[in-house]
Amino acid sequence: TYVIAEPCIDVTDRSCIEECPVDCIYEGSRMLYIQPDECVDCGACEPVCPVEAIFYEDDVPDAWSHFTRINVEFFDEL
Ligand code: SF4
Repeated sequence: TYVIAEPCIDVTDRSCIEECPVDCIYEGSRMLYIQPDECVDCGACEPVCPVEAIFYEDDVPDAWSHFTRINVEFFDEL
């Protein structure tokens, strides 16, 4: 799955939402989140993010590795 990390916070540009073919990017109060069970790993969202907040799960920078869990937990709480 792809993961949205810290640069999205308070930016929520939403370009990724328009690109996602399966509509698995959802809006929270301060950032966007990718539903990991719905993401088909197409990669379409990654290059359109103006703040480079989106990473394939294996490529999330160490400083933001906790965002993988944060994306999952957002949907657990819904
Ligand atoms: Fe949507 Fe593809 Fe990005 Fe997954 S990788 S969130 S399916 S655009």
